[in-house]
Amino acid sequence: MVDLKGQYEQIKDQVNTSIQEVIDNTAFINGPEVHSFQKELEEYLDVKHVIPCANGTDALQIAMMGLGLEQGDEVITADFTFAATVEVIALLKLTPVLVDVEPDTFNINPEAIRKAITPKTKAIVPVHLFGQIANMDEIMAIAEEHNLCVIEDNAQGIGSTYQFKDGKKVKTGGIGHVGATSFFPSKNLGCYGDGGAIFTNDDDLAHTIRGIVNHGMYVRYHHDVVGVNSRLDSIQAVILRAKLPLLDSYNNARRAAAKKYNKAFEGIAHIITPRVKGNCDSAASTICDTCNCHVFHQYTLRIVDADRDALVKHLNDNGIPCGVYYPIPLHNQKAYTDDRYNEADFPVTNQLVKEVISLPMHTELDDEQIEFITTTVIEFLNK
Ligand SMILES: *Cc1c(COP(=O)(O)O)cnc(C)c1O
Repeated sequence: MVDLKGQYEQIKDQVNTSIQEVIDNTAFINGPEVHSFQKELEEYLDVKHVIPCANGTDALQIAMMGLGLEQGDEVITADFTFAATVEVIALLKLTPVLVDVEPDTFNINPEAIRKAITPKTKAIVPVHLFGQIANMDEIMAIAEEHNLCVIEDNAQGIGSTYQFKDGKKVKTGGIGHVGATSFFPSKNLGCYGDGGAIFTNDDDLAHTIRGIVNHGMYVRYHHDVVGVNSRLDSIQAVILRAKLPLLDSYNNARRAAAKKYNKAFEGIAHIITPRVKGNCDSAASTICDTCNCHVFHQYTLRIVDADRDALVKHLNDNGIPCGVYYPIPLHNQKAYTDDRYNEADFPVTNQLVKEVISLPMHTELDDEQIEFITTTVIEFLNK
């Protein structure tokens, strides 16, 4: 699904040298490299505060702790996403409220958010799923109307830019009150282990969060709040410093591959190619060259009126990896079922879990690979 070896070859000298320097300096934790990466990411994202942490799941949890959400507060998020989002809500004894997504973007449906709001609702967690930005015009408007916090799960969307209807452009992660990302190796900006970060433009929240990641300490050995231990280590920071300047070119390579996939699948029965939907000029179902409204963390097709699972098997039999993200709606997962949910409220997610298939997507895909993958898919569907 990803080719991290090919990507490494291009930054090998820099990465190897700087890892050696970290070892020579022995500043493995909280070293200067972590601080430099933090500053560089703040500049890249144009966000006031980046707080590095141990992984993307921690980033979400710490963001929610920082906002001071309390037991019983309701947090609305998408039914169709990776479980980390709902997991941390539940861990903090908040009440997850899962809602349906849009059939074209796979992202949280603003109308469904509106319907789910109660007096207990305190926050919304949009996930920029597969690298496409959720409808932030609507989500921010709903949040303002009902005085809710917005926590962006930017684990799959880093490097993308949202253009608001009024033309204003903001990088994802810095749109909501707080953002969270993951540097898991296969993410668009990945390190060689675990890593994550929290983003905010709010000085007070940033201060609170910096204490939370460090055992609730604001002054050494004075524990003012219950915190956690969540750190990015220096070795991961040097890898991220080598990759950050290349993130835009990585995302361009992903977009170029997505375009080639889309072209090959044009007009093929049983396939719905990913729809790019933003407010930018070329948003009408094409993939734009000029903005970053979709950074293709995944390239995900819908397979309609055909046997998706048999296609998965056919691809695997031909040596082509593929993924089904995600096969079970969160509201049907044992850990997250709840009497509040009604199957009729999740028509889109219930359908998507049967139809989606993600094809290999990374920065090193070449024309020959794309040709082989697309002809193998088409051959199966034409049978
Ligand atoms: C990867 C991911 C996470 C969790 O990140 P980890 O670093 O693996 O903890 C959270 N949300 C989404 C949408 C993700 O894709």
